[in-house]
Amino acid sequence: MFDKILIANRGEIALRVIRAAREMGIGTVAVHSTADADAMHVRMADESVCIGPPAAGKSYLSFPNIISACEVTGAQAIHPGYGFLSENANFVQIVEDHEITFIGPSAEHIRMMGDKITAKETMKKLGVPCVPGSEGGVPDLETARALAGDMGFPVIIKATAGGGGRGMKLARTADDLESAWQTARSEAKAAFGNDEVYIEKYLGTPRHIEIQVFGDGKGRAVHLGERDCSLQRRHQKVLEEAPGPSISAEQRAEIGKTCADAVAEMKYSGAGTIEFLYENGEFFFIEMNTRLQVEHPVTEAIFGIDLVREQIRVAAGLPMEFDQDTLALNGHAIEVRLNAEKLPKFNPSPGRISQYHAPGGLGVRMDSALYDGYTIPPYYDSLIGKLIVHGRDRPEALARLERALGELIIDGVDTTVPLFHALLQEPAIQSGDYTIHWLEHWLETNL
Ligand code: ADP
Repeated sequence: MFDKILIANRGEIALRVIRAAREMGIGTVAVHSTADADAMHVRMADESVCIGPPAAGKSYLSFPNIISACEVTGAQAIHPGYGFLSENANFVQIVEDHEITFIGPSAEHIRMMGDKITAKETMKKLGVPCVPGSEGGVPDLETARALAGDMGFPVIIKATAGGGGRGMKLARTADDLESAWQTARSEAKAAFGNDEVYIEKYLGTPRHIEIQVFGDGKGRAVHLGERDCSLQRRHQKVLEEAPGPSISAEQRAEIGKTCADAVAEMKYSGAGTIEFLYENGEFFFIEMNTRLQVEHPVTEAIFGIDLVREQIRVAAGLPMEFDQDTLALNGHAIEVRLNAEKLPKFNPSPGRISQYHAPGGLGVRMDSALYDGYTIPPYYDSLIGKLIVHGRDRPEALARLERALGELIIDGVDTTVPLFHALLQEPAIQSGDYTIHWLEHWLETNL
C-alpha cells in the first residue's frame, strides 16, 4: 500500500479522497491555487503545496506543477477526483512516465472512451446495446441526409470529441438538418478542436440511467447497480437516486451483467460509469465515464461500500474487497447537488459564508468543503456541497431529504437549496415518474 498520495483536486471531492486515505492510514498531500490557500482540503490534508495562480489552467490543470508537488513531497500516487485532469490520457501517461501511480484506469482506456465513436464501437463489440446511428463519423452533409432519411427524424448530431453537452444538435425534420449539421460541427471545432460528428436516432422521452462498474484491471469486474440521473438542467445533473425508480431487479441484473462482462473483457481498472438512455424498457449506451462520478455516494449508500477506498486498493495492486455475490443492495438513496447559484437564472453566486450548519442524523451524509467564514472563490465550479440521504425505501429517503434540507443553513450566498424544497412538493418527484426533459419544462413554468 502507498504511504502517501496526492489529491489533484479541490472542494468536496478532495475532502472525500482525504477521508478515505486517512481511514486507510495513508498520508495525504493537498495541492491548491493561491485562491484556495484557506480552503478546507488544504486544512484537512497532512501536507499542502501551492501549485499556482487562481486560473485552473495554471494550477489544477498544470502537469508540471502537479508532478513537481509529488516529487517534493514524495507522494507515490495521484488521485484526480472528477473534472480537472481525471479523464486526461496525456496526463496519465506523463504521471506514469515519472513512476507515479495514477489512481484510475489506464491512459489507453481513458483515450478509448474519450472518443465517442471508438467508445460506441468498442461497446457494441462487447455486446452493450447502443443508440441506433451512423457507423462512425459522418463525412459530409449528403451522407448525413441519407442516414437520417433511413433512420427517420428526429436525429441528433453529436461531436466525436464531445463532452458537457457541447457540439450536440437536434434535427427534428429534414429542414433542420443542414443548420444542425453546421452548428454541431462549428461548436465541436471551437470547443474540442475536432469537428468530426456522428448521428444518432433522437430518443424523445428517455430516462438517464447509468451503471456503476468496477474492475481490478486483471479481468475481474463487478457492477453496482444503476443510478437514475434524469433530473437535469442543460445536461447537468441536479438530483440523482439509486436504485432507479423505474428499474426492476431483473433488468438491473441483466444490464449490470452486460456492463460488468464488458469491462472485465477490457481489463478495465478501477471505477467507471456506463451511461445509458432508457426508453420503453430498453437501454441505449451513450458514453462511458472513466472516473469517479459526482453522484457516486448514492451507490455507496445502498451497497455500504467505499468506492474511493477500492480505487486506492486496486491502484496499489490489491484485489477488490467485494465480488458480485457479496454485493447486496439495501434501501434507497438520493443526492442533491447544492450549487452557489442564484435562482431563477442559476447565476454564479460566490462570496463569504456567514453561517454554515450541516444537517445530521440517521441516514444523512453531507459532503461539502464549506465552513463558517469561508469565501467561495469565483474561479471554479459552483458545486459547494452534496446532501445524500439513505432510507429503507424511497418514501423514507424522500422524507429524510426534506427533513435534512430543513436543518441545513448556508447563509451569505445564494444557493440552489430552495429549488429542492420546491421539487419535493411535486407529484412527479414523489412518484419518481420523470424523464430527462421533466426538469427543464418544470423550470420554465415554475421559476
Ligand atoms: P456529453 O458527453 O456532452 O454529456 P452525452 O452523449 O452524454 O454527451 O449526452 C448528454 C445528454 O444529451 C444526455 O444525457 C441526453 O440528455 C442527451 N442525449 C444524448 N444523446 C441523445 C439521443 N440520442 N437522444 C436523445 N437525447 C440524447
